[in-house]
This record gives sequence, structure tokens and C-alpha cells, in this order.
Amino acid sequence: MIRITCDTCGVVRKSGQRDWILGYDLGFDSRETITRSISFFDHWDDSRVLERGMIQFCSPKCQQAYIAANTLKRRAAGKSVSLRRRRSGAA
Ligand SMILES: [Zn+2]
Repeated sequence: MIRITCDTCGVVRKSGQRDWILGYDLGFDSRETITRSISFFDHWDDSRVLERGMIQFCSPKCQQAYIAANTLKRRAAGKSVSLRRRRSGAA
């Protein structure tokens, strides 16, 4: 029996709950670039749950929280890099 939990709040999915949201979050890292792809399916599909990079959410609220958290993290990282560059340029 596979245990499926919400990637945001950690609640366990009961079998037969079809209103959960299924998607994937894939990262491709190379020396120069980090490409990240977050997508969602329009319906739940039990057969795809175990595929690489799959993410599951119990509600649209948890889905939005996940997107917000991951987008903000990337923005914050970009900001700290540019600040560091500005400081070293002034010195
Ligand atoms: Zn949740």
C-alpha cells in the first residue's frame, strides 16, 4: 500500500479521494543553468503518482502555498546575489 501525503501540509490521502491535485516538480541542473519545471495535471491519476518529481496536494490552497514558497525562494536568492555584486563593485 502506497502512502500519499500532501507536499504542503503532510495530510495522508485516503484511497478514492479524487479531488487531490497531482503535478510534477522537475529540476535539471547543469554547470551553467538550473531549469525548473512545475506543472499540474487536470485530474488525479493513481498510475503516475510514483513517477519522478511527482508532487501531490490535498487542496488548491496547498497547491498555491507550494508555488508561492518555491517562487519566493528563487526571488530571494536572486536578490542576495545582486546585492553582493553591488557591494563588491563599490569597494
Ligand atoms: Zn495539504
